[in-house]
Amino acid sequence: MKGIALHLLPWIMPPERPPAVSARSVRSSFLRFSAVMSAVLLCAIGAPLVVQFQIQRSAVGLEEVALPNWHAALQLEADSRALSVHVARLPLAMTQAEARTVHDMVSGGLALIEDTLGSGPGKLNDALTSTLNEIRHTAELAFAATERRIEVARDVDQGLLPADRLLEARRSERDLARRLDDLGLTLASHAAIATHDSENAFSAQREQLAQQRWLQGALLIGAGLLVGVLMFAQYRLVDRRLLRRIARLRDGMMSGTVEAQRLRSGSPRDELDQMTAELGALLDRLSDQNLELQRLAASDPLTGLANRRTLMDRLRFELERAFRYRRPLSLLMIDIDHFKSINDNWGHATGDQVLARIAGALGSETRHSDLLARHGGEEFVLLLPETDQDAAAETAELLRARVAGLQIDVGGAPLQVTISVGCASLRPGDRMDDLVERADLAMYAAKRKGRNRVECAPSSLSLTD
Ligand code: GH3
Ligand code: MG
Ligand code: MG
Repeated sequence: MKGIALHLLPWIMPPERPPAVSARSVRSSFLRFSAVMSAVLLCAIGAPLVVQFQIQRSAVGLEEVALPNWHAALQLEADSRALSVHVARLPLAMTQAEARTVHDMVSGGLALIEDTLGSGPGKLNDALTSTLNEIRHTAELAFAATERRIEVARDVDQGLLPADRLLEARRSERDLARRLDDLGLTLASHAAIATHDSENAFSAQREQLAQQRWLQGALLIGAGLLVGVLMFAQYRLVDRRLLRRIARLRDGMMSGTVEAQRLRSGSPRDELDQMTAELGALLDRLSDQNLELQRLAASDPLTGLANRRTLMDRLRFELERAFRYRRPLSLLMIDIDHFKSINDNWGHATGDQVLARIAGALGSETRHSDLLARHGGEEFVLLLPETDQDAAAETAELLRARVAGLQIDVGGAPLQVTISVGCASLRPGDRMDDLVERADLAMYAAKRKGRNRVECAPSSLSLTD
């Protein structure tokens, strides 16, 4: 029992498997199952109907043929016995009137048997009819012999005939009576055979009817079971597989572990795969748009550099890191000299163009680990992790020289632009604003000292000391 249960268990509760990719589309799977179900339902309804038709035919046969045949055979048997009794009375008649009465009774019995034969089993009709004809013929002879014996007896009583003539007449009457008795027995045995045959046919047909009823019940139960099995198979092969794949996808989406890459992998085979691939593509688009939104939120649209918010986030992070690992950190405040006059002389659009060019030039001189940001207006900030004040001053000088050497083409005329740079390095106990403020002050010092130059805020003891 336990072995059977262990054998059946994987079939009833199959172990979790990765969803098999259906080679057929969901639609074709359902169509296939509908076709099979329709065929099965047709058979399930048709087979019991055919059997029902046969049952009706058998019932009609039983009612209209077997039962009347059986009744007729029984009747025939009874009539034959009654006829034998009537015939036996003929030799006992003492007067012509008695003989005629017996004769009438025999004729009536024969007529009854003839009537029954008309509705009885056909195949016995021939034997019964010939026996009946013989009985009729012999009965007429016996009746004539009886009449004759009565006449002879009267003549012998009156002395008109000798006594031996009566003996002779009685002998002839007795022979005919015996013959009639034999024929009566023959008729009765034919009737008994007919009864037996009818009974056999009747019970065979009844048995066939019972078998057909049983078959009809079995067919109905079988059809019901088959439909149930098919519905279960549909659930296992189509519905449950789809539901599992849908549930897996839903769970992945709800838990956020679903990846666009996984959703797009493999060639879509059915509608669900196509929907999954579409979802993957949608996630791709959403992810791209998200990245673009993040980039826009973090950068300055004119120069493409990091914006002030990004700068502050990174500064906070670098400040913490520098203090924790006791590493140097410097910041350059860069401001374009006399930028207002560029706007005034060449227009705001040219001013934008110049801003973008200078941002590009500054960017080309910065390391990957540095962060160049637009601080606002025509001011830029360069954050220099792992850089002490000397190295920061060198970088500032490099940037100043790079911008000063730049030839910006504005409406065909070359324009030269300079920057003033203030540099500051982290001191113990500094907060974010302190570093920015010192670099700002240094930058204004550079402005005061004539612009196009680098000024550094006085540094205290190095953090690494
Ligand atoms: P200084 O040498 O003292 O820095 O003089 P400056 O003219 O550069 O300084 P000021 O602060 O007087 O002027 C800065 C100008 O920069 C004013 C403003 O119109 C211009 N400006 C700020 N942001 C933008 C911008 O996005 N595009 C353009 N075209 N101009 C800008
Ligand atoms: Mg300024
Ligand atoms: Mg300026």
